[in-house]
Amino acid sequence: MTGTNLNEKSLQSISDDLKKNLGQSGDKASQFPLTRMECESELFLQAQSQLDEVAKSMGLEKHLHERLRYPKRAMIVSIPVKMDDKSVKSFVGYRVQHDVTLGPAKGGIRFHPSVNLGEVAALAMLMTWKCALMGLPYGGAKGGINCKPWNLSIGENERLTRRYTSEIINLIGPDKDIPAPDMYTNEQTMAWIMDTYSINVGYTVPSVVTGKPVSIGGSLGRQEATGRGVAHCTKRANQDFLKLTSHPRTVIQGFGNVGSITAKMLYESDYQIIAVSDVFGGIYNKNGLDIHKLFQHVQKTGKVEGFEGSQPVSNEALLELDCDILIPAALGNQITQENVSKIQTKLIVEGANGPVNPEADSYLKKNNVIVVPDILANAGGVTVSYFEWVQGLMHLLWSENEVNKRLEQLMDKACDEVFKLSLDRNIRLRMAALQIGISRLAEAKQLRGLYP
Ligand code: GLU
Repeated sequence: MTGTNLNEKSLQSISDDLKKNLGQSGDKASQFPLTRMECESELFLQAQSQLDEVAKSMGLEKHLHERLRYPKRAMIVSIPVKMDDKSVKSFVGYRVQHDVTLGPAKGGIRFHPSVNLGEVAALAMLMTWKCALMGLPYGGAKGGINCKPWNLSIGENERLTRRYTSEIINLIGPDKDIPAPDMYTNEQTMAWIMDTYSINVGYTVPSVVTGKPVSIGGSLGRQEATGRGVAHCTKRANQDFLKLTSHPRTVIQGFGNVGSITAKMLYESDYQIIAVSDVFGGIYNKNGLDIHKLFQHVQKTGKVEGFEGSQPVSNEALLELDCDILIPAALGNQITQENVSKIQTKLIVEGANGPVNPEADSYLKKNNVIVVPDILANAGGVTVSYFEWVQGLMHLLWSENEVNKRLEQLMDKACDEVFKLSLDRNIRLRMAALQIGISRLAEAKQLRGLYP
């Protein structure tokens, strides 16, 4: 008996010591002291503290909150590639699944030198909220390879993509995790991933990826979907908040797949697009750019620079132009504490993932600048990815009109819900969007319970 008591006592004191060392004294700062993950980069911690803020404001139960703070699983792979000069170079690739409570994991794959475990994990978490907000039966994931895609030949890019696919092949699948395009990946990348996967399993599996070329099972309307959704959200936010009727002066950073389609859709709705940019630089005309002619110019020259009747503007200066609506649709972390005080706009629509950092976001809130958050504004892409997946699994072929109509319906529903919650509770659109997504996840987790 005495021995047992002693053991219990020493066990208790070990556990007290552990708690003390780990800071588990009940104070707020150390609410979740035991879990540490290698993904905890600055970007990941930002995404996590955004969740913490929303969880607190919506009174989320602690056990559900705790389960949402970390990715479910992450894979790091090294990818040896035969380069054109016959040398072999190893790249590092990642795939992170943040959550799969509502269905298979879903999210893009990016090729960029900023890619690391923390970035991919943070973006996977955002995908979970985005899919839940849109009511899609998916969890959230992201993947990527740390590389400079603009320095790779097509052959090198293909070998890199195929070897990466074979390294993560056990994670992905139409019922498990479905990749899609993201920064510096496209339809061709998806075709290579689909082919590599199919060759390995022995039969064609189109639904292992979305964002494929239409000729091998892609959906009509997928390529334009993100830009179409951004333009739709912009018009809805203008209608409901700014109420500008005559040619809102709009600036768009980025003229890739998202920025260019957004520009075209808004231009065709009589918005005045006064400036746009791409990686090489930007162009400005205070009376508005003819976006149809700009498309022809870009097709000929490969860049927006040098467009007739425009003056050059740098990517940094473009963000600071006086305008009604600013749409950052290129990279993350573009509006920060460094430049936010110089931003002269009434409405920001996040076409890219994470273009406004948290410090800038608080500043904009204080200055009554409305921000339509990424998880709503750019959700058109994953929404039509879902349509592509459904068509693939059910062997259906929807017309482009049907796809666009369905996209508009889902975007409108999400805009209605987010705008209403924001107005009713007097909270930022970002907080409202996150609350809706997170509460759907929390409800599902509560109902499914915790195994074992
Ligand atoms: N990469 C896009 C995003 O960030 C699309 C993801 C998808 O279609 O799965 O939302």
